Parts: sequence; structure tokens; C-alpha cells
Amino acid sequence: METQAKRKIDFSFRDKLDSAVEGFRHNYCYQCGACVADCPAGNYSESFNPRLILLKALLGFEDELISADSEIWNCTNCYTCSERCPQDVRPVDVIIALKNLCVRAGKAPELVVNVSDSVLQSGITTRVTSLAEKRRQELGLPPIKAYPVDELIKIVGKG
Ligand code: SF4
Ligand code: SF4
Repeated sequence: METQAKRKIDFSFRDKLDSAVEGFRHNYCYQCGACVADCPAGNYSESFNPRLILLKALLGFEDELISADSEIWNCTNCYTCSERCPQDVRPVDVIIALKNLCVRAGKAPELVVNVSDSVLQSGITTRVTSLAEKRRQELGLPPIKAYPVDELIKIVGKG
């Protein structure tokens, strides 16, 4: 018979979560699952489930959630779950807070780090290479304009 590893509940993780979410509404989650039905990420991935993410967060399964491999990175931040939740738990805010905790712990996926670095450096998500500029010229397209990155940096508080 297959034995399952025992998991230890760690309620101290809720303090980190409360502070990262800047609120405590997630503690009102009663696991109804209303956030799951219309979740686009859940419709494409069998392993993605916002109700389970809430449960793991409330039980303090930090090692599963704060990781570059965590399922939280499949969330598209569409906010459908927050519209559906009868408890106003705002599951997406919890998932965003978990992503922020990953970034602070240096555990964000490399792709996410590269995209955010690119946004901070150029204001766009993909670096424009000289080859891309050349191809645009050949196609008669105008050069990509420079964005006011200093304003962006002020908004995200990196200045
Ligand atoms: S987050 Fe809201 S909708 Fe989802 S399981 Fe918890 S109470 Fe239900
Ligand atoms: S915000 Fe994320 S968890 Fe919520 S419905 Fe959209 S993809 Fe699913």
C-alpha cells in the first residue's frame, strides 16, 4: 500500500502572507471552490487550482508555494476568481503576494526575472535586438520609440 508523506502545518506563514497581501481577507476562505470553475489557468492545467493554492497558503506549505516551480506562476492575473469568491477573499491578490514573496526570496522563474528586468530597462517586455530593428526597417516600419523608463521606475518604487 502506498504511504503518503506527512505534512506539517505552519501557521506562522500566515504572518508573512498577511503582510505581503496587506490584508487578512484570505483567512475567510471556506474552501467552497467557486474560484475554480471559471479559472482559465485551471481550465488548461489539471494541476492548477486557486482553491488549493489558498488552502496551501493558509496551512503554510511554503516550500511548495515559494518556488520557481510553483503552480502559482500559471495564474494569468485575470481576476475572475476574485469576482466569483463569495467571501471577498480576492484569491488573485494572494497569488500575486506569493509571487512577490518568491521574487524577494530569489525564487522566481528565470523567464519572469528576464521579463521584469527588460521592462525596468526599456519599458517593454522583450528586448529589441539590432536584427529586429533591421527587419523593421526592411518592412518599412518605424523604429520602436523609447519609453520614459524613469517614470516607470518611480511608479514601481525602484528609484
Ligand atoms: S477563495 Fe473564495 S471562492 Fe475560492 S475556495 Fe476560498 S472562499 Fe471559495
Ligand atoms: S486570477 Fe489566476 S487564479 Fe484567478 S481566475 Fe485568473 S488565472 Fe485563475
